[in-house]
Amino acid sequence: MSPAPHPKSDVWPFIPSPRIIDVVKAEGVWLEMANGTRILDAAGGAIAASIGHGRKEVAAAMAEAVGDTGYIVPTFLTPQRERLVARLKASWLPDHLTRVHLSSGGSEAADAAIRLARMYQIAIGQDTRWKIIGRVPSYHGATALTLAAGGHTARQKGFEPYAPHFPKVPAPYALRSPLGRNHPDEDIRCAKALEDTILSEGPETVAAFLAESITGSSGGAQEPGPRYWPEVQRICQQYGVLLIIDEVMTGFGRTGARFGIEHFDVRPDIMYAGKGLTAGYAPLAGIYASDEVLAPLAERGDSLMFYTYGGHPGACAAADKALEIMEREDLVARAATQGRKLEALLRDRLGQHPHVAEIRGRGLLWGIELVADRETLALYPAEAGITNAVVGQGLARGAFFYPGGTGDIRDIICLGPAFTISDDELEMLVERLAGAIDAATQKAA
Ligand code: PLP
Repeated sequence: MSPAPHPKSDVWPFIPSPRIIDVVKAEGVWLEMANGTRILDAAGGAIAASIGHGRKEVAAAMAEAVGDTGYIVPTFLTPQRERLVARLKASWLPDHLTRVHLSSGGSEAADAAIRLARMYQIAIGQDTRWKIIGRVPSYHGATALTLAAGGHTARQKGFEPYAPHFPKVPAPYALRSPLGRNHPDEDIRCAKALEDTILSEGPETVAAFLAESITGSSGGAQEPGPRYWPEVQRICQQYGVLLIIDEVMTGFGRTGARFGIEHFDVRPDIMYAGKGLTAGYAPLAGIYASDEVLAPLAERGDSLMFYTYGGHPGACAAADKALEIMEREDLVARAATQGRKLEALLRDRLGQHPHVAEIRGRGLLWGIELVADRETLALYPAEAGITNAVVGQGLARGAFFYPGGTGDIRDIICLGPAFTISDDELEMLVERLAGAIDAATQKAA
């Protein structure tokens, strides 16, 4: 993303593109610009808009909530929040995650989850446990603490003085495993790296391990092999390390299950998720924890934290309505079925492309990894800016693709359209993506 001045606006950042993207209306998977041109939103914004744009029902629910109660301090109860929490517990959250705290977005939720882990360790007398072990690649948010715990090298640059040095372990990345391309033991290698790191740091210093169930845009929809999560769970339990799972991008149906963790055998102590919670209609995220994690805090009378806009009635009403729509229209199952169709189209059109190293994903979260050389997996030089070039070429063809990767891990194009996307729209999406990749890679040749 370029910080250079925008020809038409003082607001930043913006997507570098041959055109100015000024959206005045959105419906379904389509964005409409001021001049009437339409863009297929292949990314649901920032992989958030899961029920499609322009749902008047959600707008009406938000208007009613704000009309009835406006803003209420988050320590008071409101019917909108109570209804949302009841729905989350009845239909969405894993049974053991019974406690809900609401923040305004994913970064705040990640920050809160980290602080919750630390507060838990203090409350049980483990004051020396402060480190959060994170993974590379990963992304957990834009605050100093979440940047420090995450593995997004490009975004961390320059902010190191503000952030504690948290240890990092590799996230499973089978394509580029040091054991060999697509080596079956990549999952075990990475789980072992966690155990080695806990031991070398000293278990008595480690509060939690933080990871996405399936790495989102930073790694391009990478999921671990089958032995990874059970082994990580065992390691965390053995050393008294809490397991925090980030479901910001993968949560609320995106991967064809309610949460990414449902694809694996894993039981987080703390989980947090935003984005799809309101399907992008309002800023809201939740931190979900077990009774065991909250009980010691309650005994000490610790209150978790306070955000002025956490659990805003308008945002809670948006989330409650968005989830109701997902249930009514069976959209989680639809993410799975449309995802299978998208996969077939992608493999057919791009599977043998000379600059596509891998197409990976689940449900409606996909990553396409681009390389200079498909055989050696050689990267394009950073200066080639292939990811941004594909995004720009996509916009010129009337489609928005999400730029992924972390700077060191590049070049990755992410897809995350609304679950309501039709078969015709999926075909259009893949056609436009292939055109954009062809154009950008031919220019770089
Ligand atoms: N965690 C993951 C996996 C994300 O993808 C993001 C945002 O993209 C965040 C956390 C931060 O969420 P937000 O941008 O809502 O602060």
